[in-house]
Amino acid sequence: MAGRNICSYCGKKLEGKFCYGCGDGKTKEIYCSVECLEKHRMALEKVRKNMKWFAAGIAVSVLLMLSSAFLSAGGKESGKITGGCGMLLLGLTVVLFPYCTPETYAMFGYVKTNRLGRVIGVLVAIFGLWMLFEG
Ligand SMILES: [Zn+2]
Repeated sequence: MAGRNICSYCGKKLEGKFCYGCGDGKTKEIYCSVECLEKHRMALEKVRKNMKWFAAGIAVSVLLMLSSAFLSAGGKESGKITGGCGMLLLGLTVVLFPYCTPETYAMFGYVKTNRLGRVIGVLVAIFGLWMLFEG
């Protein structure tokens, strides 16, 4: 694992003496402590359980934004509202379930990636609100 020298959970730099490799069989995760290993295992279990809600939220918001594009193209006022709702839903979904790509997790660790995902989600939700009330 070239370049991987941070704890998979908290993102702390591991200087040489990392341990506790485990993971899902495909990637070898490394952690700074048993606590991080245990917390990450539980977090991933939660991610698996919530994945359907995450996918549903993304799917519905994409559908809303697509229909918004069609409505706007047809010159309909409701396009803006539909688009704002879609954007807002997308933001809320990401805030609730800030799931990022495995590459991002590998780069920053689980905790920091979640925080990053939440910040992006809040920004997207605010943009959605702005579209609804100002757009
Ligand atoms: Zn750690």
